Amino acid sequence: MLDWISDACSRLMVGALMPAYDFLADPTSRYFWLYCASGLVIAAFVYARHKEYGGFGTTLLNRETWASKSAINDYIILVITPVMRLTILSWATINWTQVKDFVVSTLTALGVSGTVNDGTAIGLGAALTLALFVVDDFLRWYVHFLFHRIPELWEFHKVHHSAEVLNFATAERHHPVEVLITAAVLTTAYGVINGIFIALFGEHVTVTTVAGANIFLFVFNLAGGALRHSPFWITFGPRVERWIISPAMHQIHHSDKVEHFDRNMGGSLAVWDRMFGTLHIPRGREIEGFGLGEETRDFRSMEVILIRPFQACAQLLRKRFRQQTKDASKTPGPVAAEF
Ligand SMILES: [Zn+2]
Ligand SMILES: [Zn+2]
Repeated sequence: MLDWISDACSRLMVGALMPAYDFLADPTSRYFWLYCASGLVIAAFVYARHKEYGGFGTTLLNRETWASKSAINDYIILVITPVMRLTILSWATINWTQVKDFVVSTLTALGVSGTVNDGTAIGLGAALTLALFVVDDFLRWYVHFLFHRIPELWEFHKVHHSAEVLNFATAERHHPVEVLITAAVLTTAYGVINGIFIALFGEHVTVTTVAGANIFLFVFNLAGGALRHSPFWITFGPRVERWIISPAMHQIHHSDKVEHFDRNMGGSLAVWDRMFGTLHIPRGREIEGFGLGEETRDFRSMEVILIRPFQACAQLLRKRFRQQTKDASKTPGPVAAEF
């Protein structure tokens, strides 16, 4: 019993300190200090050239951005999500190395087993790094797309879209259910791809990382990725934005204008949105505000943020079930044979 209590307490403490660790020391985090710092340098440079944007200092120090109810809720979510993941939701966390080991042992049992020399391993390592980045980016897009298209999932994703201001912490403003589903898909894919490469080519084919982050993601984040959830309007120009999601394009995704709804769901690459017809390249500064429209105000309450998605999802499921039962009762059954 004492062991259980001390374990629960230490998990609580680790979870509560996780946001500080992510900011200070984790290059896989989207608000790692280096990405925020490089983002601010980029923003200062762009805003020095575009006086019409309102000035770098004025935009950065806007009180609303950092101290509004929306921002404070971002900070609360930033702390409670890792606490929940490490405590009451720890059972739902998938470990990618277990997935990888399972794939390797399954493929080995099927007779797939290989090894390559060091020279080939370097080239294959680059291929693995690229494969992981591209597959991860596509799955992020696809899961995000499903969270927009499936009404039951949209109820959970509303939490992210209810942000009224964007500061760096808004990147983590997601309902814990969305965090778990997305992490399960991405972690499984990461384990499967690693497993396939290891089974085919051996253990010494490794991912190219910078301080633990996939090098492609590191470069993307360093080049302004952290500005996606910031008050700065930064575009890459229409030519680049056909390929890469700029901070401005993600801000379009958060815009409360109807014509911007369900647009630009990509993580790093814009190709998925282009392929599936959801790309919107901004022509000038098109946004006026962020949020869900009328419903946004409701999400100023943490109770609504955490509980309402479950209630709304259950209501939709009940409605769907009732409709299906009604449809099934209308469908004519097989005609009874007449004797
Ligand atoms: Zn979205
Ligand atoms: Zn966002």
